[in-house]
Amino acid sequence: MSALTDLIYAGANAVAGLTEGAVNDAIAKYGPDQKIAFPDTAYFFPTIYAATGVKVAKTGDLPACVNVLKSLITNKEDLGEALNAGLATAVGAEILEGLKYIEGDPYAEDSGIGFVPDPVIRSLGVPLVTGDIPGVAVVLGKGETDQAVADVVKDYQSKGILTFLIGDVIEQAAACNVKMGLEFRVVPLGHEVTSVIHVVTVAIRAALIFGNIQPGDLKGLLQYTKERVPAFVNAFGPLSEVVVAAGAGAIALGFPVIVTTDLGENQVPGALESVVDYSAVAKHSLEMRGIKIKVKELPIPVAFASAFEGEVIRRGDMQVEFTSDKNPACELVLMRDLDAVEDHKIVIDGLEMEGEPPVEMALATFIEVAGTKMQSDFEPVIERKIHHWFNYMEGVMHTGQRNLVRIRISKDAYAKGLRLKDFGEVLYNMIMDEFDSVVDKCQVTLVTDPAKAKEILEKQAIPQYNKRDERLAAMTDESVDTFYTCILCQSFAPSHCCVVTPERLGLCGAVSWLDAKATKELTPTGPCQPIPKTGCMDERKGIYTTVNDTVEKATQGAVSNVTLYSIMEDPMTSCGCFECICGIMPEANGVVIVNREYAGMTPTGMTFGELASMTGGGVQTPGFMGHGRHFISSKKFISAEGGVQRIVWMPKELKDDVAAKLNQTAKDLYGIDSFVDMICDETISTDSEGVLAFLEEKGHPALSMDPIME
Ligand code: SF4
Ligand code: ZN
Repeated sequence: MSALTDLIYAGANAVAGLTEGAVNDAIAKYGPDQKIAFPDTAYFFPTIYAATGVKVAKTGDLPACVNVLKSLITNKEDLGEALNAGLATAVGAEILEGLKYIEGDPYAEDSGIGFVPDPVIRSLGVPLVTGDIPGVAVVLGKGETDQAVADVVKDYQSKGILTFLIGDVIEQAAACNVKMGLEFRVVPLGHEVTSVIHVVTVAIRAALIFGNIQPGDLKGLLQYTKERVPAFVNAFGPLSEVVVAAGAGAIALGFPVIVTTDLGENQVPGALESVVDYSAVAKHSLEMRGIKIKVKELPIPVAFASAFEGEVIRRGDMQVEFTSDKNPACELVLMRDLDAVEDHKIVIDGLEMEGEPPVEMALATFIEVAGTKMQSDFEPVIERKIHHWFNYMEGVMHTGQRNLVRIRISKDAYAKGLRLKDFGEVLYNMIMDEFDSVVDKCQVTLVTDPAKAKEILEKQAIPQYNKRDERLAAMTDESVDTFYTCILCQSFAPSHCCVVTPERLGLCGAVSWLDAKATKELTPTGPCQPIPKTGCMDERKGIYTTVNDTVEKATQGAVSNVTLYSIMEDPMTSCGCFECICGIMPEANGVVIVNREYAGMTPTGMTFGELASMTGGGVQTPGFMGHGRHFISSKKFISAEGGVQRIVWMPKELKDDVAAKLNQTAKDLYGIDSFVDMICDETISTDSEGVLAFLEEKGHPALSMDPIME
C-alpha cells in the first residue's frame, strides 16, 4: 500500500473505533432514548443528514450510523476508496462532537466556539456572494513558531478570508495579538482534531440552505461543496494519522489540503500539496483553490480590510471621537457639474485631530462627485458606503449615517499616524475604485471647524436628506416603469432570483431598488437587470408577464411564475440569506415574522432556523417567504393576502425596530391606530393558545379576515 492510503486508513479506523466505543458508552450511560442535538440547527447531525438523509435525534439512532461509517472504510488500495474513508472520519468526528453536547455546551470553557449555528451561516451568504469574503480557510495543528502562524492568519484576515482555527494554532495566533471572533473573520473552533467537523458542517449546511441539495444526495452534496464553497485546509506541523484521514475527508468535499510537512511523492497535485516555507503557504493555498483577491493598496498607515468592519473601540481605548451627540457631524455626497469639482482635492477645513485623548471634535464629511453618467439617485448609494470604508480601517469604528454618526479612532491607530487626511484618501480611492463607471472626478472636504461643520449640516445636508426622503416616500411600485432582478446569490443558490421593486427590497436587506439601479449602471451585464414593467395580469397579486419571463430566464427555467405581493401563490424564491422569515400561523389566520437574530421559539413551534429551513435554495414554498426587515412596513407586504394586518407575532426587538413605520402603514392603509400593540411577541406568549388569547383580547384584525388558507 502507498504510505498515504495507509495513513488515511489508519486514521479512519482509529476514529471508527473511538466512535463505536463512545456510542456504546453513551447508550450504556444514558440509554438509547437520550436526546442529542447540536445547538440551533434545523439539520440534525448535518453530515449524516446531508449524506444519508438520516435524522439523528437520540443516542439509539447512532449505532446504525456507525455501521454506515464502518462500511465506508474498505481498506482498499485506491485513492478514491481512501477518500471515502476520509468521509467516514468526518462522520465519526461529527458523532464524537455531537455526543459532547449531551450535557450542555462543551465549549463553554474553551477558547473555541464549537458548533456554528444556522443563523450565522445564513448571515455569511451576502458577504460570500459579493466576494467580500472571498474564501474560507481552515488552519489546524501547531505551526513552527507563533509568528509564522500569525503571519499566515493575518494575511488571510487582510484579504477578507474567513479563517477557522483548530488546535494549538489558536493560542499561537492569540500570542501574536491576532484579533479573533466572527466579526474579525478569524474563528477559533476547538482544540481536538474532531472539532474540524464544525467547519465541515458549515460547508455541508450551505449546500442544504442555499443549494437546495436534498438530504441523501451525496453526489450532489460533494459536487456543491467542490464547486461552490471556496474552502481549503492548511495543516501545520507534524501530521497524525487522524489529521491525514480528516484531510482526506476535506479532499472528498473538494477542498485542497496544504501541509507544511514534506510529503514527497505522496503529494496529490491540486488536492494535497506540501509547502514547507510558511511564508509561501497563503499565496499557494489561494492559487490552489483558485481564489483571486482584489488588493486595495491605500496610502494610509493602518491596515484596510473588511475583516476590521466589526471592530469595537471602547471609550478608554479611543484617541478621538466625532459624534453627532456632542458636536455637529454629518456625511454628505453631492453631485456637481464636472467643472465644479477638482479631482483628488482633499481639504481639512479646521484642525487635524490633535490633543490629549479623549479628543472630541466636529466632523462634516462632505464629498462632491461629478461624472457624465452620474445621477443624483446614486448619491445615497455612495454615501452609505462611507460607513463600511471607515470601518475597514484598522482602529476606526463607525456607526450610523447621515447626521447621526459616531466615529472613534483608537490610540493605537493614532500612534501609527492615522489622521483625517487618510480618511480623505480612503474616500477618494474607494469611490474612484468602486464607482468609476459613474464618477469621473471626486473631491473630499473634511470640516472640523465647528461653526463651518454646523453650516454644512444645516444648509447643505439636512435639506438634501429631506429632499431624498421625499423622493423615496413618493417612490412606489406604481411610480416607476422598471423593476430589477438581483441574481447575486446564484453563486450559492443557483435557481434563486430576487425581484427588487421600490417597495420591496432584496430579501438580504442590502439591495434597494436604487441600489439595483446603480448596480445596473455600474456593471451593465452584472447581477441586476431591468424588468420593464409591462404585461400586468393581476395588479393585486403583482403578476406581470415580463417579471415571469425575466425570472424564468434568470433562473434557467427553474422558476417561471412569481407574484410580487403574495405569500400563498407563487411567492418569491428565497436563497437562504434573508434577514427575516415569514410563515403562516393558520390558527391565527395570519403570519409570524422572525428575524435571524432571534434564537428563541415561535408560536409555529419552530425556531428561526427551523422556519428558515422550510424554504430557501431558490425554491418556492407557499406559506413561507424570506424578506428584508424594511419590507415589513411596506404597503406591499403580502398585500394580496390583506397586507400588514396579517402580522400576528414578531420578536419584541423586531417589533420595536419597525414599530413607527409599521404603525404608519397600518394607519394609512386601514385606519388602524397603534397596530403594533396588537401584535404578540415572546414576552407575551410563544404558544398557540397564548397568542390567540392575546389577539382576541386586542381585537386583532386578522381574526376576522378571510381565511388565509383556502
Ligand atoms: Fe442575494 Fe437577493 Fe440580496 Fe441580491 S437582493 S444579494 S439575490 S438576497
Ligand atoms: Zn441570498
